[in-house]
Amino acid sequence: MILGKCPYCDGSVIARKFETQGKKIKLYTCENAHKQYDESEAFVFTAESTCTFRVYSNAFLKWNKRSFSQYEMKKLLQDGQTTIRLHGRKGTGEYFKYVIPDKEYGVSILWEEDVPKEGEEELIS
Ligand SMILES: [Zn+2]
Repeated sequence: MILGKCPYCDGSVIARKFETQGKKIKLYTCENAHKQYDESEAFVFTAESTCTFRVYSNAFLKWNKRSFSQYEMKKLLQDGQTTIRLHGRKGTGEYFKYVIPDKEYGVSILWEEDVPKEGEEELIS
């Protein structure tokens, strides 16, 4: 399934489902970014790869967001950013932040910027 155009090259970003340690997760990857295990068991980009855009759906697990959805990735590719809902530790509230593509990490959160209330309504639909 094609989600949109890669922010770094002319490739398409596709979604792939797979299972790891009994958990189903998704990988959103540019069609030009491939990784594989090399002889020393390191997970590296293949020689044919011309791009590095790859994002796992559990990229924001650290901030208690279980899954970065296909819808959110589509919006990120379309608008250059998207809004995500994060949660504090148990008992603390949820909050919203912008996410942008990141060359090194795939995606990164704009911590300094606050999301206006209108952004929250978009997420619900
Ligand atoms: Zn690409």
